[in-house]
Amino acid sequence: MFQFFQQISEKKWNYVASFVADSLAILILILTTYLTYAGQTAWWYILAFVSGIVTWTVYEYVFHRWIFHGSTPLALGHGKHHDDADRLLSMPFATGPAIYLVMFFLLRFLIGDGLAAVFTTAYAISYLYYGFLHHSSHFMEIDLKLWKKMRAHHLLHHKFPDRNFGFTTSFWDRVFGTHYAIARVKRSAVAARSTTPQPTA
Ligand SMILES: [Zn+2]
Ligand SMILES: [Zn+2]
Repeated sequence: MFQFFQQISEKKWNYVASFVADSLAILILILTTYLTYAGQTAWWYILAFVSGIVTWTVYEYVFHRWIFHGSTPLALGHGKHHDDADRLLSMPFATGPAIYLVMFFLLRFLIGDGLAAVFTTAYAISYLYYGFLHHSSHFMEIDLKLWKKMRAHHLLHHKFPDRNFGFTTSFWDRVFGTHYAIARVKRSAVAARSTTPQPTA
């Protein structure tokens, strides 16, 4: 069974399908939010949306650090991305929608349909946002300072796999002491140069 999932995760169609499935799931979640609105104040919706984003960033860090880089079967697939970043690898395309479905149905008992839908929408948008950013960091060039900073942060993770587990934010890397900044790399390169005898003309 695991082998079957692994085979799917290496297919190009699965890579594309995961973006399509996540986008469709987000549309359904937005519609659910609209249809289940029960008159709560906007602040509750904003709080639920922000909580969904924050939860995603925690998930991103924890999953990447302790599952993808831990002693788990999923570490094997992630290792392939580290070995060859040009390969299009993705979790089976239904993974995202399955997570959103479980999340929504668990949360609706705690905070009601509307807020559960908002929270899950924010989480799903963050997931898709991450997917696009990760793809672009390996295959595209975007002339945006923030994007370049994010890409540098991630490419350093490829160089130093025990650093920079976060992608959409470096916040949790800073909290857990795994942050490795591009400035530090530049500083050590300068230091290495200054201690190395320079050729004279
Ligand atoms: Zn990568
Ligand atoms: Zn990694």
